[in-house]
Amino acid sequence: MNLVEIKRKPDFPAGKVAEATFWVETFGCQMNKSRSEHLSYRLQELGFSPAEESGEADILVFNTCAVREHAAERAISIISKFARERKEKNPDSIIVVCGCLGQLEREKLLGKDREINVLAGTHNWEKIPLLIKKAWQEKVKIVDFQEEPPSLYEEKGYRYSSKISAYLPITFGCDNFCSYCVVPYTTGKQRSKPREIIEEELKNLVEEGFREVTLLGQNVNSYGRDREREGAFEELLLDIEEWLRGIKIWVCFLTSHPRDFTEDIVKIVKDSSVLCPYFHLPLQAGSNKILQLMRRGYTREDYLNKINFIRKSIPSARIGTDIIVGFPGETDSDFRETLDVVREAQFDVAYTYVYSPRPGTAAYLLEDDIPVCEKKERLHILNDTLRSIYQEKLPSLQGKVMEILIDQEEGGLLSGRGANNLRVYLKELSSAEVGEWREVVLTPGEGNKVYGSVKR
Ligand code: SF4
Repeated sequence: MNLVEIKRKPDFPAGKVAEATFWVETFGCQMNKSRSEHLSYRLQELGFSPAEESGEADILVFNTCAVREHAAERAISIISKFARERKEKNPDSIIVVCGCLGQLEREKLLGKDREINVLAGTHNWEKIPLLIKKAWQEKVKIVDFQEEPPSLYEEKGYRYSSKISAYLPITFGCDNFCSYCVVPYTTGKQRSKPREIIEEELKNLVEEGFREVTLLGQNVNSYGRDREREGAFEELLLDIEEWLRGIKIWVCFLTSHPRDFTEDIVKIVKDSSVLCPYFHLPLQAGSNKILQLMRRGYTREDYLNKINFIRKSIPSARIGTDIIVGFPGETDSDFRETLDVVREAQFDVAYTYVYSPRPGTAAYLLEDDIPVCEKKERLHILNDTLRSIYQEKLPSLQGKVMEILIDQEEGGLLSGRGANNLRVYLKELSSAEVGEWREVVLTPGEGNKVYGSVKR
C-alpha cells in the first residue's frame, strides 16, 4: 500500500524554501543518527537551511526509534509537547515524523497527534525531503508510507554533525529476525552499500580532514551477503586498509553479530594500521536456552570462544556488549548463566536493558512472564557485576601510555578516546586541542574515570 493523503489549508501562504530553516531531532541508535545526517544533507540540497536551535525551526523533523517501548512512548510525548508549543512560538512551522516508529505505529501517531504535517516511515526515506518541501510550500498535510523496503541501498551525501568523527553506513536493514527485535520489520532485509560508494565516501572524508570513521550497519559482519558475497566484510576491511595506506585515520565498525564474527576479522584488525581494536559483540543472554528463544544463532560456548580469541590475539582490545534481562522464560538459573558469561568475558563496555515486548515480533507471542520488579532486580545485579569488573580492571591501566584522539571539550575539560574506545580525560590544561592525536600516560581516577597526562 502506498497511501498519500493530502488536505489543503488554503488560508496558509506558500512557504518559501530559501528562507525556511529545519531541525532534525533524532531518537535511537547510530544508524538513525546517520540517517538524520543524510536527511539534513538532502534538505540543504533542496535549499532549506539548518536552524540554530529546535525552537526556531520552521520545519521540525522527528526521526524516531521503535526498538523499545519506553523509547517509543518518550518520542510520542516529546512530539506532542513540541506540537503544542510551536502553536504559540511559530504557528506557521510544520512537524514531520518519520523513522522506525512512523513505519511501525502510524495509526497510534495519527490518532494521538493530528498536528503532524508529514508522517512517513523508513521504506520511503529517499522521498521524505520532497514530501517535506511539498508540505512546506503548499501547506498541506501528507501521510506517505511504502510497505516494501527499497531493494538497493545507494544513499549518498551527509551533513556530518562533527568535523572529527563521521559515520559511514555500509548496510541497512537486517536479515536475522532475532525474536525480540523490530528492526527487520521497520527497516527491511539487509541491503549493502556498493563497495565503490564506500570507497568514494571514505576518500572524501579523508580529504575533508576527518580523523575517525565508523562503519555502520545492524550487522556489519554480514556486509555483502545480500549480494551473494560470503566473506565480503573481511574483504572490505582489507580494501580499506589498502585505500588508506599511509594516511593517519582511525576506522571502527559497529555492530558485529557474534554468529557472523570471524577470527579473520580479528586477524585483519590486529595487522592493521587504521582499524580500531574495539569490538562490539552483543551477547544478549548467557543461557543457551534463552539464546535459542531469542533466535540468536550461537551458543554461550561459541560466544566465549570468540571473546577468548580476541583477548589472546589483541591484549589491548576492548570489548563492548548489549544484554537483555527478563526475556520470557528466563529463570534465575538462566540469569546466573548470563552473569557467568559476563564474568568470563570481562566486558569493558556494556549497554543493559530490561526486555520490552514489541508488537509484530516473534517474542511478542511469548508470555511476558517475569514480573517487572524481578526484571529490575536482575538489571540491578547485572549492572553491579559489570561495574565491579570494570573497577577491578582499572588499576591495570596505571602508567600505561596510549595514543588518544581528542574529540570533546566539556566545561573546560578536554577528553579523547583511544583506538580501543577507552575515554580518557586530560588531567591538566595543556596546549592540546580537539581534533589532535596525543600520547598520554594513564591514571585511573575518581568516579571510574581514566585520566591522562599529555606525554607529547
Ligand atoms: S541482528 Fe537481531 S537484534 Fe540486531 S538488528 Fe538484526 S534482528 Fe535486530
